[in-house]
Amino acid sequence: MQYLPDHDPVVARIIRQEESRIENTLDLIAAENHAPRSIFEAQGSIFSTKAAEGYPGSRFHAGCICADELESLAIARAKRLFGAEHANLQPHSGVSANLAVYFSVLKIGDRILTMKLSHGGHLSHGDPSSITSKCFNFKHYGLNLETERIDYDQVWELAQSFKPRMIVAGASSYPRLIDYEKMAEIARNVSAFFMVDMAHIAGLVAAGVISSPVSHADFVTFTTYKTLNGGRGGVILCRQKHAKKISKTVFPGAQGTPSLNLLAAKAVCFQLASEPEFKIQQKKTLENAAAFAAGFEKKGYRIVSGGTDNHLVLVDLRSIDLNGAVAEETLESVGIIVNRNVIPGDPQKPGISSGIRIGSPGITTRGMGLDEIDQIVRWMDIAMKNSKNGGILGQIAREVMNLCKKFPVYNKRD
Ligand SMILES: *Cc1c(COP(=O)(O)O)cnc(C)c1O
Repeated sequence: MQYLPDHDPVVARIIRQEESRIENTLDLIAAENHAPRSIFEAQGSIFSTKAAEGYPGSRFHAGCICADELESLAIARAKRLFGAEHANLQPHSGVSANLAVYFSVLKIGDRILTMKLSHGGHLSHGDPSSITSKCFNFKHYGLNLETERIDYDQVWELAQSFKPRMIVAGASSYPRLIDYEKMAEIARNVSAFFMVDMAHIAGLVAAGVISSPVSHADFVTFTTYKTLNGGRGGVILCRQKHAKKISKTVFPGAQGTPSLNLLAAKAVCFQLASEPEFKIQQKKTLENAAAFAAGFEKKGYRIVSGGTDNHLVLVDLRSIDLNGAVAEETLESVGIIVNRNVIPGDPQKPGISSGIRIGSPGITTRGMGLDEIDQIVRWMDIAMKNSKNGGILGQIAREVMNLCKKFPVYNKRD
């Protein structure tokens, strides 16, 4: 920071403290990652202030020569990376991207079939607390509670009886792969649009280490800051036949000028994600998640669905008689950052919940591997079983701090 400490020492101090928090804790939140400095340089660039309503070649403001080049480049990179016919990079966030898709081809009150929030879905898929549920008529499919995998027979039956105009696949805490082909077939059978929200797994898809929904879906939405590791922002990919409607719905429908600084970061993100190192990174992300699942299983915990195929693991804590909220708080006190999470059929309220969700992207980006995960699982197990023992927690906190020092996120000279 060059100017901020002088212009606003209070905010500068808060940023420094956040930097220190990131360096000195283990980020196991499945929805987070550590974007490289080049992303922050793009996000904090001079493009922050340019007004550029419209799209490349048809703006409502003058002075858009560089903006047009930037957005066109980012779009071309997104299309190439994901093999998409069309890309709209203007949504400010994942939820904005989802709203734009719904409003592009649906009318108020239309029916949408999505995954249940309590089984791993997302708020913007029609949760009562989300404005999506006030505009559209949602029904939800869920998991087969025995296998804890999506119950495709139920999706089929609900599609037949509910007759949705759109079916959505994609989730926030589903550790398994989704059968896009099957979902697309179900959607086709009832003439519904098929949308995939791949917010969490976009990095894994970009790297080609798990299968891509792009060729199966009418619309694919995602955020660039989760596994994709590119800073905040939303993206819509779609078939060419929907391009016009998506463009109009995003602007002028739902947004004004795009955040060109975020668009710059998206361009950088797509470039980085097309490089060979990124593929290696995403492969390790999968391996590390699998190691977390195996590690907790060995310690006697029940893993939801028995394992993972992606970057996240859901651990059922009922066997140690601890709820998710207390586990989250206990782990944070030793510098391990996770979030509590409902497990399928959870007897607890969502605010308390019976599980925790563990994600491997952050520590993988830091360079950690199987040895470190062994240690982290051991610390988490001991901490959760001794949540009231200040001495034990203090000792673990020191060891966590030491590990963090060995794997700096940004301060490579420390
Ligand atoms: C994280 C997430 C989003 C929301 O993205 P924001 O950028 O926070 O709006 C949308 N859908 C799913 C499935 C997500 O996991």
